Amino acid sequence: MAMNTQGRPTRMAENVATGGYGDTVSGSRGLEQAEPLIFERGGVENTGVDFPAPKGSKTRLGGLERTAPIGLPGLSEPETMRHYVRLSRKNYAIDLGLYPLGSCTMKHNPRLNEKVARMPGFADVHPLQPASTVQGAYEVMDVLAHWLLKLTGMPAVALSPKAGAHGEFCGMMAIRARLDADGETGRRRVLVPESAHGTNPATAVQCGFTVDEIPADAGGRVDMAALKAKLGDDVAGIMLTNPNTCGLFERDIREIADLIHGCGGYFYCDGANFNAIVGRVRPGDLGVDAMHINLHKTFSTPHGGGGPGAGPTVLSEALAPFAPLPLLMIDRDNPKGMAIMHMAEHESELDGKDLHPFGRMAAFHGQMGMFTRALTYMMSHGSDGLKQVADDAVLNANYILAGLKGVMTQAFEGHCMHEALFDDRFLKGTGVTTLDFAKAMIDEGYHPMTMYFPLVVHGAMLIEPTETESKGGLDRFIEVMESLALAAKAGETARFQAAPVHAPLKRLDETRAARQPVLRWTPAADAAE
Ligand SMILES: *Cc1c(COP(=O)(O)O)cnc(C)c1O
Repeated sequence: MAMNTQGRPTRMAENVATGGYGDTVSGSRGLEQAEPLIFERGGVENTGVDFPAPKGSKTRLGGLERTAPIGLPGLSEPETMRHYVRLSRKNYAIDLGLYPLGSCTMKHNPRLNEKVARMPGFADVHPLQPASTVQGAYEVMDVLAHWLLKLTGMPAVALSPKAGAHGEFCGMMAIRARLDADGETGRRRVLVPESAHGTNPATAVQCGFTVDEIPADAGGRVDMAALKAKLGDDVAGIMLTNPNTCGLFERDIREIADLIHGCGGYFYCDGANFNAIVGRVRPGDLGVDAMHINLHKTFSTPHGGGGPGAGPTVLSEALAPFAPLPLLMIDRDNPKGMAIMHMAEHESELDGKDLHPFGRMAAFHGQMGMFTRALTYMMSHGSDGLKQVADDAVLNANYILAGLKGVMTQAFEGHCMHEALFDDRFLKGTGVTTLDFAKAMIDEGYHPMTMYFPLVVHGAMLIEPTETESKGGLDRFIEVMESLALAAKAGETARFQAAPVHAPLKRLDETRAARQPVLRWTPAADAAE
């Protein structure tokens, strides 16, 4: 049988025989339409638009004309539209249903945020416009910064990092710059708990540090004895998430901060889980020196699929002078009697202040659309509303924990913060793995929870409902999860191993996809060579 370069049958009828792309001739299942790659749907021989060859005009390309066709998949406008709409209908989205991914804080994105972000005064500004024409945009950034500083109890914030991981990079670069400025160039070891998000050790290494892992204790928190044993005068700092990735509050956080400061290091807090404590706990009071805030988690701006996010990073007194450019400068006592703002792009524009930016994180000022959305969210909740966000997020997670711990196995005893962590002990002897269980959830219409993370828990299943789910929605989810757990225990192993059956594609060879990814479409003629 002929296969195309993506390993799919080249003739539709072969779909039925192989089940390769579906079990119908077309590959579609009812209104769930099969959709191949745009290159398979179109063809390099067709084109959507025909331009007449230009007459009598001389080329200005100076001999740089293409010598070979570039292989665009020609499609008409309606064909192109259908391709992308069909693809979009394969997406699972927070607007379709519960998105229980732990550590990701997938909450509802209020439409008010979208409305405000689309106002032309915000949506149509350009970062290269003269400062006098974007004073309003600067003010949004300034007010957002004010809210972030109030909520975190910190003195400074760098707004430009474009994601959580980028914010980690910002904070760790500030720590490095501070150490270098103090002549502490021998401090290069960063302590990272073994439950940490993968971005933490990656960031530390990227910034030129080495990573030293701290084990978790039996309760899922930092093992204090192990931490103390690792302190020394080569320690640059610690990267700690609180609440941690097991969904637990690190109770010893004050002592951890004191120990790190006591040995001359800095405390980076991964703020991805800020949703659990926003309005309740100020990281500045815990001794934090730097922390990123994922606006796309805690402050409800959209995320998934790689962006766009925003990771403003708050900095302590010790690190603030090293914040990256550009810096928003505000002249409050000018002759006009109103604040005039401008972005200082170079050190020479810092008006003689004792500032030493370590560099810059982005070409411009950060994700303006996310700033607008996040500020809208904050102001529409108010400080009391943001407190309730944390309360309700923690309540919802504990509701799920209480509802499921009878049939699934809770990883660590006690209450959780904003996410409930289970392990795979309840699947022991069933032949069903965490992966199979997650696939079965897809058949039930749910995006799976986070699996196999944190690594310290065997077969981990990390569920974060967020505060935006109703009790009714949580009850339905609990009922589905409970029935799946009971089905696994009742020996319905085959059903789990075959799942998902109600999905556009079924089981994929994920190992091969990771090890030998096919990221490029090659025309059949080339592939045959
Ligand atoms: C999401 C997350 C990050 C990284 O944030 P991005 O915005 O995805 O780069 C870091 N740490 C933890 C604990 C997270 O959940």
